[in-house]
Amino acid sequence: MSILLTGGAGYIGSHTAVALISAGMDVVIADNLRNSDSSVLQGIEKITGKRLPFYCIDVNDGEKLDRLFSEHDISGVVHLAGYKAVGESVNKPLSYYRNNLDTTFTLLEVMRRHRCGRIVFSSSASVYGENNASPLTEDMPVGDCKSPYAYSKLMNERVLKDVARADSTMSVVLLRYFNPVGAHPSGLIGEQPTESPTNLMPCVVEAASGKRTELHIYGNDYPTPDGTCIRDYIHIMDLAGGHVSALQYAMEYTGTEIFNLGTGRGTSVLELLETFSRVNQVTVPYAVSARREGDIPVCYANADKAFRVLGWQANRNLEDMCRDAWRWERRTAQSTNMIGKATVRI
Ligand code: NAD
Repeated sequence: MSILLTGGAGYIGSHTAVALISAGMDVVIADNLRNSDSSVLQGIEKITGKRLPFYCIDVNDGEKLDRLFSEHDISGVVHLAGYKAVGESVNKPLSYYRNNLDTTFTLLEVMRRHRCGRIVFSSSASVYGENNASPLTEDMPVGDCKSPYAYSKLMNERVLKDVARADSTMSVVLLRYFNPVGAHPSGLIGEQPTESPTNLMPCVVEAASGKRTELHIYGNDYPTPDGTCIRDYIHIMDLAGGHVSALQYAMEYTGTEIFNLGTGRGTSVLELLETFSRVNQVTVPYAVSARREGDIPVCYANADKAFRVLGWQANRNLEDMCRDAWRWERRTAQSTNMIGKATVRI
């Protein structure tokens, strides 16, 4: 029996593959490499010693997905395939709704044909919108989202809940991720977007390595202790471990459950920058510019439910996140001979 990871060549998928294999599960990956590179498969293999079955397919292609399910005994799915750039979704809403919803429709139809009823879905803290006060709990109202991306996640949650309600054999686990950062401690896999990153940590790493001249901090006049926005950064390997727990839960229970995957701790932009510079002994050039539309001042999780029900909690701290993110950057820079661009402070 195997677990299918759609979008498994991506950032969260590749680390989740490692965590699932370490927990003794067999993994199959389906990914069209729209925002990833097949070299990640070698990284997974080096870490785990296992070569994974990889299908370079679009999850919207039902025939190819059917073939994958015929060739493997899939007992559960972690559905990560989707577009994720919040800003891009504002300019390309149709493309985001089309891809992020169609992949789910196609996947659910194929799963039903093959009598596979367990699915863990990659949702997002962005479904909480801007009207809830942190720490955010799973029972808070959702909606009033700031982007088509967030609405596409919310719509997926609705679809999955309705499908589970209509089929009492199904198990749906909705994971609302907060801000995954860092990399596997080996430095063999990490965040490797094919397009220019917009999330904070990859931008910090780029500024520290000289790939961008400076980091833009969007606003330092928010009602927070240092004026910069506060988010709940979670180490990618802790997040990956949350999928192992979620799948184990889905194997035992039916119905729908929602879990926040966060640390329960808020970190400001400046705090992250200071920690990154200190633990890695690098300078991160930055400039403060005007607030960015759509940013809320404070967003962090209450992660008690995941601990209570799944027995899962994040163990790694901000220093681990910064150290592992930089190790991954140095490793990739070494292999492309770019390390000389880093500004090292002694
Ligand atoms: P990612 O872009 O690194 O990974 C997504 C993968 O899906 C990519 O490898 C891409 O090639 C693939 N993909 C996209 N559309 C596809 C399709 N139609 N068919 C096959 N493959 C397809 O992103 P990630 O950070 O690993 O995120 C994984 C999931 O988690 C996404 O759905 C994202 O929206 C969600 N999520 C991410 C974050 C975050 O901060 N990274 C936060 C909340 C939720």
